Amino acid sequence: MNAPVQQPALRHQHAASYYAASSLPQPELAVLEGERVADVCVVGGGFSGLNTAIELAERGFSVVLLEAHKIGWGASGRNGGQLIRGVGHGLDQFANVIGVDGVRQMKLMGLEAVEIVRQRIERFQIPCDLTWGYCDLANKPQDLEGFAEDASELHSLGYRYATRLLQAHEMHSVVGSDRYVGGLIDMGSGHLHPLNLALGEAVAAGQLGVKLFEQSAVTRIDYGPEVKIHTARGTVRAKTLVLGCNAYLNDLNPQLGGKVLPAGSYIIATEPLSAEQAHALLPQNMAVCDQRVALDYYRLSADRRLLFGGACHYSGRDPKDIAAYMRPKMLAVFPQLAGVNIDYQWGGMIGIGANRLPQIGRLKEQPNVYYAQAYSGHGLNATHLAGKLLAEAISGQHSGGFDMFAKVPHITFPGGKHLRSPLLALGMLWHRMKELV
Ligand SMILES: Cc1cc2nc3c(=O)[nH]c(=O)nc-3n(C[C@H](O)[C@H](O)[C@H](O)COP(=O)(O)OP(=O)(O)OC[C@H]3O[C@@H](n4cnc5c(N)ncnc54)[C@H](O)[C@@H]3O)c2cc1C
Repeated sequence: MNAPVQQPALRHQHAASYYAASSLPQPELAVLEGERVADVCVVGGGFSGLNTAIELAERGFSVVLLEAHKIGWGASGRNGGQLIRGVGHGLDQFANVIGVDGVRQMKLMGLEAVEIVRQRIERFQIPCDLTWGYCDLANKPQDLEGFAEDASELHSLGYRYATRLLQAHEMHSVVGSDRYVGGLIDMGSGHLHPLNLALGEAVAAGQLGVKLFEQSAVTRIDYGPEVKIHTARGTVRAKTLVLGCNAYLNDLNPQLGGKVLPAGSYIIATEPLSAEQAHALLPQNMAVCDQRVALDYYRLSADRRLLFGGACHYSGRDPKDIAAYMRPKMLAVFPQLAGVNIDYQWGGMIGIGANRLPQIGRLKEQPNVYYAQAYSGHGLNATHLAGKLLAEAISGQHSGGFDMFAKVPHITFPGGKHLRSPLLALGMLWHRMKELV
């Protein structure tokens, strides 16, 4: 049995996002009271939890989902909205664990992950401003060499969407800045309003029979053949538990918590721009990301604001004034925005894993406890894949995908709860200094 966790122990209470101000009506969901019994209890109302719940309900399971705050309150409702192909980073490093064919299967799953999002939006008619078109931006010539390899790998995987390498002189067709030396366009990736996607998925889950509860933080878990999950005012008894809390897990399960490092990332939203201004920044309305360790990622919203995100803070300390911190980064790319107001500023926690592969598996000591976490800032698609893989495993369907992810070992960050972030912050500083030489 776990010691009770201090709740609310979620230490990162960032300001509400632009998405919250422009969202669909948020459903009023009940607080858990009394006792409930279900086949599966899912903890976390972000994409991981919602999609696992949907996939389980579709397979006939009774599911209770518990969210500490509101649906989409965590990273899922405050991210950059960039829906980009691929899972993990440098997958070839896992060939010694899952084999060369396993690596290829994982790369294919990274493409399938976007298709799951596409199908979910289509099937449940979720109005979330889905727009296709994404471009990787090269900061230096070596990045462009990497893009050429990526493009040829996509071709060898049978990728069915258009991709195109861009040289420096073509960059203004995608982004109105002189900062980049090339790019890789991918028409099978794109961008969307992430909170509206999460809210739409919550409605879909409810329609499929999932019982969703908000303001119902799990405070204690009694493990065993039947798991008992406690909140302040209720309990759930379930045969199976799924933990989908990612960077907000805190001490709920210290073993899993030690493998994911919360890091702050921040976004500003400008005031709405004129059609001409918006077109001058991103003429093809694509989402874009550069290639630096502390990368810039940006795109236009449906109401023509520039949503400019960046940074990756491991220190546990947020900038005092996010707009003052992010604005110079935005102006370094688009000096023409000097006179433009910033209407919204917010942040959220990314869950970093040491090897950058999403952690999808089940606990050795408690085989009826499953988890998905550590998407390392690239989780919009991967969470949807995780939901499918977890539901397959829980229902005994063997596609092989879950086993492949579960086989890859993940280290616990050294330094314990208090030292691991400062240690990693030092490591990141070293990587950034390397970029400057
Ligand atoms: C600023 C930012 C920008 C990003 N940009 C992108 C992007 O453009 N593209 C991309 O692919 N990825 C991006 N990401 C990453 C992506 O958002 C995440 O990988 C993904 O949303 C993780 O989803 P999740 O459901 O696992 O976690 P979350 O969405 O964080 O959800 C976890 C939920 O668990 C709940 N919870 C925690 N503890 C408890 C408890 N004890 N009881 C009940 N509930 C609990 C929390 O309240 C939270 O709602 C970004 C992340 C951030 C923070």
